[in-house]
Amino acid sequence: MFSKLKKNFRNFVSIIKNEKKFISCEWLENGIIFDHANIIRVCCEQSHEGKGRYILEDSFNGLWLDIDKILNNKQVLKNKIRNNIIPDSCKGCQFLKNDFWKEKKVFSNILLTHWSNCNTRCIYCPAVRDNNLKDANHYNIIPIIEQLIDAKLVNQDTKFSIAGGESTIYPEFDKLLYFLIDYGIKNININSSGIKYSPSIADAISKNLAEIVISIDAASSFLYKLIKGTDTFNIVIENVKRYLDYQQIGEKRVILKFILLKGYNDNKKDLLDWFMLCSNIGIKKLALDIDIAWYNEMQANIPSYVIDLVLFAKEMSKLNNIELDLYDRACIIYKYSKIDRKEHK
Ligand code: SF4
Repeated sequence: MFSKLKKNFRNFVSIIKNEKKFISCEWLENGIIFDHANIIRVCCEQSHEGKGRYILEDSFNGLWLDIDKILNNKQVLKNKIRNNIIPDSCKGCQFLKNDFWKEKKVFSNILLTHWSNCNTRCIYCPAVRDNNLKDANHYNIIPIIEQLIDAKLVNQDTKFSIAGGESTIYPEFDKLLYFLIDYGIKNININSSGIKYSPSIADAISKNLAEIVISIDAASSFLYKLIKGTDTFNIVIENVKRYLDYQQIGEKRVILKFILLKGYNDNKKDLLDWFMLCSNIGIKKLALDIDIAWYNEMQANIPSYVIDLVLFAKEMSKLNNIELDLYDRACIIYKYSKIDRKEHK
């Protein structure tokens, strides 16, 4: 309610100042991604016609960042947007939004996913499918973040997401997390398999500075092993409970995710079992997504049972009073189901 009022007030001020609305997105305006294989991108979104993932630098040496080059390359995209030209890579993206976008000098979102090794072998992971999980091309990101701080492109409000591969096996992981905390970053999102328990994550959770997202995709050891390729279900559940012990009352900083995967867990029973498991161990926030390769295959004609599963998950979250975030593809399907219903009324 308060944030809506704040937004309405900001819009009112923009209208008074005669500012113009235009179509853009948060990543395009204020985001940057340090991706695998020494690539730097604008975003990692790829579930749409343009396939996103615009490249700002394709051969980053990991030692010194040519900030001017990055900012200039980004400006090329932004200029197109400001001239009402949607870049090819953004065509059809759900994150485009007509708004009073302001020029900011600071990155609001930074995703660190330059580390590609992992301690699971999830069958939906593009890197596993392409046999691309390896230590190669890994570099220490901390000096690069220092460079961004010195250039005033990062401040305490910048949101950092750490992915991978697996975040906790990135060699500088603990140092990185404490570096961000010591600098005063307040909003850190860590994606992890949950297999390796990290005291630094527990510490960050206890201080309300970070959240951890663990994709378990199943409620049984058997199904988990089929999907994740490791026999570590019980270890992960124990680690989830340990992280929960550090979560402050009323906070939702330990998040469990379920990725719907064709032929494995794409049914109400597995989804319901997962809800029950999460509820029993005291999880307050969940996330749902769809396997990207499967989504790309079916996106022109989403089967009705997949739409039903997303709606079912929404319903279950209400009934069990657990917050549910619909991630990219699940969110598109949910929005689509709402439009479709309206059209058929
Ligand atoms: S592809 Fe989507 S998320 Fe990425 S920059 Fe374009 S509009 Fe933004």
